[in-house]
Amino acid sequence: MTGGLEALEARLADELAFLQLPAARWTPAREHGGRPVLDVAIVGAGMTGLAVAAALVHRGIHVVAYDEAPEGLEGPWATTARMETLRSPKQLAGPALGIPSLTFRAWFEAQFGRDAWNALDKIPRLQWMDYLRWYRRALALPVQNGHRVTDIVPRDDGLVTLAIEAAGATTRIDARHVLLATGRAGLGGPSVPAFAERLPRTRWAHSSDDNDYALLKGLRVGVVGGGASAMDSAATALEAGASQVHLLVRRPDLPRVNKGKGAGHPGFVAGYARLPDDWKWRIRHYINVQQVPPPHGSTLRVSRHANAHFQLGTPVLGAAQRPDGALRLDTAKGPLAADFVVFSTGFRTDWALRPEFAAFSSQVRVWQDRFAPPEGMADSELAESPDLGPLFEFQEKTPGACPGLERVHCFNYAASLSHGAAAGDIPQITDGAQRLARGLAARLLGEDAGQHFAAMQRYAEPELDGDEWTPSELPPYIEAGDREVSP
Ligand SMILES: Cc1cc2nc3c(=O)[nH]c(=O)nc-3n(C[C@H](O)[C@H](O)[C@H](O)COP(=O)(O)OP(=O)(O)OC[C@H]3O[C@@H](n4cnc5c(N)ncnc54)[C@H](O)[C@@H]3O)c2cc1C
Repeated sequence: MTGGLEALEARLADELAFLQLPAARWTPAREHGGRPVLDVAIVGAGMTGLAVAAALVHRGIHVVAYDEAPEGLEGPWATTARMETLRSPKQLAGPALGIPSLTFRAWFEAQFGRDAWNALDKIPRLQWMDYLRWYRRALALPVQNGHRVTDIVPRDDGLVTLAIEAAGATTRIDARHVLLATGRAGLGGPSVPAFAERLPRTRWAHSSDDNDYALLKGLRVGVVGGGASAMDSAATALEAGASQVHLLVRRPDLPRVNKGKGAGHPGFVAGYARLPDDWKWRIRHYINVQQVPPPHGSTLRVSRHANAHFQLGTPVLGAAQRPDGALRLDTAKGPLAADFVVFSTGFRTDWALRPEFAAFSSQVRVWQDRFAPPEGMADSELAESPDLGPLFEFQEKTPGACPGLERVHCFNYAASLSHGAAAGDIPQITDGAQRLARGLAARLLGEDAGQHFAAMQRYAEPELDGDEWTPSELPPYIEAGDREVSP
């Protein structure tokens, strides 16, 4: 199905027209303080921000997505990610919103053909970013890059005010709803052990840092962690010429099975959010405990180097700088000398790392505020997860203490306990975006029911002109017999 992107875009235009998308705007235009009010402001224009923006635009809702990144460099793909390919299987429909021509496959085949598709193993990382750039352009999505949201203030009058920094100036905009499509570290940032903070910053990085791996040439590198990003960090360091790389893995063995994948069928997609709390906790806790294995290819990318050392059952308990400037990593199996350490230790919710949420973060109800984990299933990540409503909205810790908080929607990884993997990963992103957009459309209608009723009453487009028929001059019976049998 080659034909190039131009042909694909023509087909996409047809499909959108057949589906009558996008709908015309139906929400009332509003102003506040002389400024137009957005129906929905989205913070973040990575895959999630784009998908939900598209789902909202298709429903005739006025939306703008703001991203601090330069255009085309949103999210990790072309910036901090270091894997060669995506973990996700190539055939997933991703953010296509049910439209065949919007899939990665359609985009790929249009350019490279069916044979190349059949030969493709996994999606190369940068190609995925190219696809997202095309997705945004093909749908003409309303995104403003270089716009950093620095403050989000829920109010008691049905609006949320955002402060936005761009080109050195701060402006304010008002929106009726705000979606935080802020990604994997959506409510926090990198998670590093406390001892890392005592090491010189020139000697360590987190795997999500914009670190220059070329500088690791000839050095002894420790990589703490055993997941996907640990493999990517280790492989990148080895390829840059590190003299040796030690993967320091707490567990005695690497996990083999990605249990979350076993919960990806349509039942889970549709039903997880409605499961009882006990089940949600049990499922997410199980995934946390089992952990996700690093991808097969990423692991081979490390192990093919003779100077890569998989140190299993080797938790790092502390670290210090030695007199010669190098680091001493104190592991459960003894000390290890390293010139540089990469902490591939994941992300955590930490509101202190996100000053843009300071106006409301202390008011957000989290799971531990109202839920006691089942015996033996304590889990600090889950305990600190926001306890979200059906539209991914935050809820108040103390009712009435933060009016308007319910207009801020957490559409990022932190939603996983409340909503499953619907807000960020490729497999369920269409379902999550559609569910949220449909719910927001309903909420916007409900908030303005009076105006929509008045508009319906004003609506005056005739379907009949009145000249399509002539009223009968006969009485309502034709034959005398009819009159006798009728009551
Ligand atoms: C290395 C890596 C590999 C992954 N591989 C896969 C995979 O193979 N399959 C899969 O399903 N998932 C994968 N994921 C998980 C997930 O798909 C990605 O994290 C993906 O980037 C999520 O998209 P997103 O739009 O939610 O977040 P992001 O892509 O992170 O986008 C968030 C955006 O928000 C912007 N932003 C944040 N705060 C602000 C602010 N205050 N103001 C303005 N803009 C802001 C950021 O600039 C960023 O562009 C991977 C994640 C990582 C980190």
